[in-house]
Amino acid sequence: MADEDFVVRIWGARGSLPACSGSASSFGCATPCLEVRCGKRIFVLDAGSGCFPLGQQLVAGESSEFDLFLTHCHYDHIEGLPFFRPLHSRGWTGRIWSGHLAGRMTTEEMVANYMRAPFFPVGPGCFIADLKFNDFIAGEVIDAGDGVTIRTLGLNHPGGAVGYRIEFRGRSFCLITDTEHVPGSPDKAILSFIAGADTVVYDSAYGDEEFAAYAGYGHSTWQEGARLCDAAGADQFIAFHHQPEKTDVKLEAVDAALRRMRPNSRLAREAMVILPGKKLV
Ligand SMILES: [Zn+2]
Ligand SMILES: [Zn+2]
Repeated sequence: MADEDFVVRIWGARGSLPACSGSASSFGCATPCLEVRCGKRIFVLDAGSGCFPLGQQLVAGESSEFDLFLTHCHYDHIEGLPFFRPLHSRGWTGRIWSGHLAGRMTTEEMVANYMRAPFFPVGPGCFIADLKFNDFIAGEVIDAGDGVTIRTLGLNHPGGAVGYRIEFRGRSFCLITDTEHVPGSPDKAILSFIAGADTVVYDSAYGDEEFAAYAGYGHSTWQEGARLCDAAGADQFIAFHHQPEKTDVKLEAVDAALRRMRPNSRLAREAMVILPGKKLV
């Protein structure tokens, strides 16, 4: 990968449960995990079940280092963490970051609380990578080095969640999940956070027509994502966090409707590759 390359790959686009309606899905069944390459740097956003195949691919190459940023610790966003192969591989260096529990629990405590009896057989002591846990407060700007800046934003989600904006060589990629909007009242903090972004991946668990039935669940709609991206002058919009009961027939229909409404937009699919600043293929 060239030093200037900025490449995002989706390894898990499903929300809530790593399951699909039907035996397979062209959108995939894995829960949230995105790989963001900024030159030689590897960033992983969320550790849903999609981080298992990502980890397998990483350890098949040269050992290196990664930074894993968690939006929050609901199961669908961390269930792949204990199975992320670089953590079990000598020669790898990892940093795990979170900010949604700032002041309540550190990232290290959160992972230890997840990987413990009687829910899991071994604790994080089983990891043999050179691993550090880092904490931040939502709103902080993190200088990740090598010209990468990571901005953070607290989202409206039960227990908290953090949105990320990764900036590299004049381009920007945002992940905004999980978050609940107020109908008719665009989230001003999100609007300024995603302003002018090249790519926005946004919580699109529902459609507007379903939204009222899920008030308080902490999620949003694909139409709200399109409205926010339009209002903020963002370019690519990727609708993300598909609910497991959504069939491919339903999701393909939403994808077609979204493309008609906003041509440089797509529903997220596993293995989708996104180049911020370029046209979607
Ligand atoms: Zn979720
Ligand atoms: Zn959640």
